[in-house]
Amino acid sequence: MKATTTPARAAVLVLLLLSFLSGFAQEKSQPATHGINVAHLDPAVKPGDNFYEYANGGWLKQTEIPPDRPSVGVFSTLFDLANKRTVGLIEEAAKSNPPAGSNARKIADLYNSYMDEGAIEKKVLEPLRPHLQAIAAIRDKRELARALGEGLRADVDPLNNTNFHTSNLFGIWTAPGFEDPDHYTPYLLQGGLMLPDRQYYLDNSEHMREVRAKYQAHVAEMLRLAGFSDAPARAARIVELEHNIAEKHLSLAENQDIHKANNLWTQADFTAKAPGLDWAEYFAGAGLSQQKKFIVWQPVAFSGESALVASVPLDTWKDWMAYHLVERYAAVLPKALVDENFAFFGKELLGTPQQRPRWQRGVMLTNALLGDAVGQIYAKRYFSPQAKAEAQAMVSNLIAAFRKRIDALDWMAPATKAEAKAKLGTLYVGLGYPETWRDYSKYEVRANDIFGNVWRASLFKYHHDVGRLGGPVDRHEWSMTPQTVNAVNLPLQNALNFPAAILQPPFFDPEAPAAANYGAIGSVIGHEISHTFDTEGSTFDSKGRLRNWWTPADLQHFDKVTAQLAKQYDAYQPFPDLHVNGQQTLAENIADVAGISAAYDGYHASLQGKPAPVQHGFSGDQQFFIAFGQNWASKARPAALRQQVLTDPHAPAEYRADTVRNIDAWYSALKVKPGEKLYLPPDGRVRIW
Ligand SMILES: [Zn+2]
Repeated sequence: MKATTTPARAAVLVLLLLSFLSGFAQEKSQPATHGINVAHLDPAVKPGDNFYEYANGGWLKQTEIPPDRPSVGVFSTLFDLANKRTVGLIEEAAKSNPPAGSNARKIADLYNSYMDEGAIEKKVLEPLRPHLQAIAAIRDKRELARALGEGLRADVDPLNNTNFHTSNLFGIWTAPGFEDPDHYTPYLLQGGLMLPDRQYYLDNSEHMREVRAKYQAHVAEMLRLAGFSDAPARAARIVELEHNIAEKHLSLAENQDIHKANNLWTQADFTAKAPGLDWAEYFAGAGLSQQKKFIVWQPVAFSGESALVASVPLDTWKDWMAYHLVERYAAVLPKALVDENFAFFGKELLGTPQQRPRWQRGVMLTNALLGDAVGQIYAKRYFSPQAKAEAQAMVSNLIAAFRKRIDALDWMAPATKAEAKAKLGTLYVGLGYPETWRDYSKYEVRANDIFGNVWRASLFKYHHDVGRLGGPVDRHEWSMTPQTVNAVNLPLQNALNFPAAILQPPFFDPEAPAAANYGAIGSVIGHEISHTFDTEGSTFDSKGRLRNWWTPADLQHFDKVTAQLAKQYDAYQPFPDLHVNGQQTLAENIADVAGISAAYDGYHASLQGKPAPVQHGFSGDQQFFIAFGQNWASKARPAALRQQVLTDPHAPAEYRADTVRNIDAWYSALKVKPGEKLYLPPDGRVRIW
């Protein structure tokens, strides 16, 4: 799982999201000094009443959400910086007149084909036409099954990037097998919804009913723009079909239960357990006829969706396919479609008034489709060997801190401790950039063909992923590009990635006091390491095999303590009618508590007994906690915040900062007293590791 919500996701999804994506900030000048930013504090707020505002109140007062963003924060400020650097690299690539077929040429051609709006307008709907004609030509459910199979893409990732959403009927993820960690195995996931989650279809609040009415009008408008007659009637049927699909879907909280996901199905099982869809045709369309076994993440959804293929009229399914195609590719179609897509997904769903400038969307697209090609240049330019060495030293201190914490646990059985330490021993920690780069030689990029470039990219990724099924696992493979401002734990590989773009100020600054570095990036590193042992990590052993290596007593204790944390988060209420879902965000909240605890130990170990330097009048411990709190500086529009609460396994930033209330050292460092709003009595603080 990753450390925070990311703006960029898998290629196809990015496409859909391109015009409205979240999370970028206006450029802020870097602080003149290194370490915590005192101008961002609000000394008028007591840390014990509202730590988030204490650490970020100054920033909150100075910062406005730019009109083209749903939210703004530290992550997004860095994202902007990475974007600026990246567009520079792209422009350099274009100017160097690179040879045909080279990565630099592909980068230039892809970006330029996106930027050439004139050419896109001139083509009108021509790029869509052959695909819409293919859908129109479907004569029966057998052909429908084949077409649905042809639409399967490698666009979900339930464990590394926690992306459970695909608007295709199903999505595939190729990863080490739950019980065969040495070989790539196919995982199939539920799909078929265009809105972000089942709750958008099923929740009966007034707010959601309103969203649905606007969504239906939007579907009709997209169909009309794509040249369909009878658009309102078609839209009504499409939304009804999606509603029926949503009823079969598992919730996000259920999706995160790995034990429910481990369902090995043969091809015959699909026909027996999920009748309706012609599975032989579906797998033939997907090029997977030879694949004998799959792991089906949500069997109930597969049975339900397959039955809908049989029961819902063919024409409704064809309209659903056509609408999904248009929506997914709207970002690379003429302006009328781009704008209508943004009007709903950007303005309505996220509350963002304006689209981001086209060049920024172009950078995101290029990063999504040629991420390693860009990243290779980015890492060379922007990640120094010294930065890598210093980050390496922090990681070593943090791993040592975890070892000590595991040894000191009084509730964990000795055998469990031994396996936990074995996991630390085999953990691969990638810093900055991967050891090998993705080979794009089979990805064809053409000048002036953005639609085709995007279409081929999603197929390229699909063939790349499916092509390695059954083959040996590369445990050092990365799941994020160097220019991504985020970090990730890859449970099936027992590996972590910390991209170059997060290993920079304000998260990490080789010039800053250790207190600030450990509080900021150290807690992020600790967060990712702790996923190795949390509810998810406890289900994978040191080889990445799905095996519960905890004793029932260990698990019982863990469940009891973490239930207390879920309750703590359930009580946070960003809206009168909506509270944080403690269960949905539990794994991430555990990781935050564990991450800051280990970072604190690692920080003290790094001092080697010497006194911590005071900066701006703040002690080392104070700097440590303030730096942690400043990680979460963030402002979101209400609609975007609502979407996050409903669909994100991470709690809103404010509550992530306030988790310091579970750490004893925070009380003494910031002199927090009983009666203050965040105060918890010692036995009310959640202690996990
Ligand atoms: Zn996480």
